[in-house]
Amino acid sequence: MQSFTSLELELLKSGYVRIAYVELYCPRDGGWRCATLEAPLTMGCPHCGLVRRATAIALGFTRSPGQWERWESPLSPHALSFLHSSIDEAERFRNERKRRYHERPHFNRGSKILEASAIP
Ligand SMILES: [Zn+2]
Repeated sequence: MQSFTSLELELLKSGYVRIAYVELYCPRDGGWRCATLEAPLTMGCPHCGLVRRATAIALGFTRSPGQWERWESPLSPHALSFLHSSIDEAERFRNERKRRYHERPHFNRGSKILEASAIP
């Protein structure tokens, strides 16, 4: 049985190159995978060009690095709209929670403490 190192040498001699199989997801254009010579942390979406987070999911060998393939369809306009509204709602919730936190009296910040009768 061949060892992995001797197999690797044979592949390299036969024109294969060592690659990282990288995956990225773009909410507008879907999921993409590509064999790259490096494993970058971010890459431009092959469709719209916006920089997205990239993840190396495998190492291997290929004769043709750099070809993108789509593995997941983009979100439908309805799903994308729902996602954006959920993000907006989560941000509103965080802002409201932050506002309430800062409105509470804090002794260590010197907030004025109201008399119970003065609270509306
Ligand atoms: Zn894109």
